[in-house]
Amino acid sequence: MVKSIKDTITLNNGVEIPQHGFGVYLITDEKNGYEAINKALEVGYHAFDTAQFYENEALLGKILSESNVKRDELFITTKVANYNQGYDSTLSTVEQSLKDLHIDQIDLLLVHWPSKRRFFETWKAMEKLYNEKLVKAIGVSNYEIHHLEELAANSEIKPVIDQVECHPYLTQEKIKEYADKNHIAFQAWSPLGRGAVLNDPIIRIIAEHHNKSSAQIIIRWHLQKGNVVIPKSSTPSRIEENANVYDFSLTEEEVKIIDALNKDERTGDDPDALWFQM
Ligand code: NAD
Repeated sequence: MVKSIKDTITLNNGVEIPQHGFGVYLITDEKNGYEAINKALEVGYHAFDTAQFYENEALLGKILSESNVKRDELFITTKVANYNQGYDSTLSTVEQSLKDLHIDQIDLLLVHWPSKRRFFETWKAMEKLYNEKLVKAIGVSNYEIHHLEELAANSEIKPVIDQVECHPYLTQEKIKEYADKNHIAFQAWSPLGRGAVLNDPIIRIIAEHHNKSSAQIIIRWHLQKGNVVIPKSSTPSRIEENANVYDFSLTEEEVKIIDALNKDERTGDDPDALWFQM
C-alpha cells in the first residue's frame, strides 16, 4: 500500500520512479513557476514532468537547480516534441533539453506522441542516448497497444513506461493490462481529467465520506491502482492538497465504484487520429 509521496515504482531497467509526481504543463510564467514549483518541493514532490513542447524546461531547470533539494533526489521527465521527432533532431534537441534543464542526465525521456513516419528513427536515437547514459530510462507516451507491439517487434530496448491520458472517465484498462503483462509501467496524464471529473456526484459522495476533496480521492484512486500519477496545479493551496493523500485509504469497493465511472471519454487527442497525420 502506498505510504508516502516518496514511494517509488521500479521500472523494468531497475530505475526507481516516484509514483506521485508533479506535472508542469502550462506553467510558463516565471513568478508563478517559482511559486508553484517551490511549493511542490516544499510539500514533498521530487518528480517533475515536463516536455520540449511545454516550453518550460529552462524555467523548471533553473528553479530546481536553485532549490536546496539535491539532484540525485529529483526525478526529471521530459519528452521529445512531435516537431522534433526523427533521428538527428531527437539527438540535437535532447542535448538542448539537458542544457535547459541544467542537468547532465535526464531521468526519463519519452516520445511525446507516436509518429507513423518517424516511429523507429526517434526510438533509435533514444536508444543511443540511453546507451550513452545521457538518459537513465526511455519510454513512450500516448502509445496504444498496437504501437507498443510494433515497437516491441522492431527495437532493441523496451520502453519502461507508457504515459497515457487516464482518469475515472477514461480508465484505459486494456492498455494497463497489456502494460502490466509486459512489465511496462503505466503513467496517467491529466489524472484529474483536467478538472472535468472533480464535480462527479459519486466522487463527491466518496470525498465527503473521507472528509477529503474530489481531487484527493482521484489521486488516491490512481495510487492504489498502481498508476504513476502526475497531477498539475499552479495554485499553492491545491498543490498542498494534492500531495496530502497519505492519511486515508479507499476501500476495494470504492476503487471499483470509481472504476465503473469509465465512459472512455477523452479530454485530449486520440493518439490514432494524430498517428495517421504525423
Ligand atoms: P490534470 O488532470 O492534472 O488537471 C489539472 C487541472 O485540474 C488544473 O489546471 C486545475 O484547473 C485543476 N485542479 C488541480 N488540482 C485541483 C484541486 N486540488 N482542486 C480543484 N481543481 C484542481 O491535467 P493536466 O495538467 O492536463 O495533466 C497533468 C500533467 O500531465 C501535465 O501537467 C503534464 O505534465 C502531463 N500531460 C501529459 C500529456 C502527454 O501527452 N503526455 C498531455 C497532457 C498532460
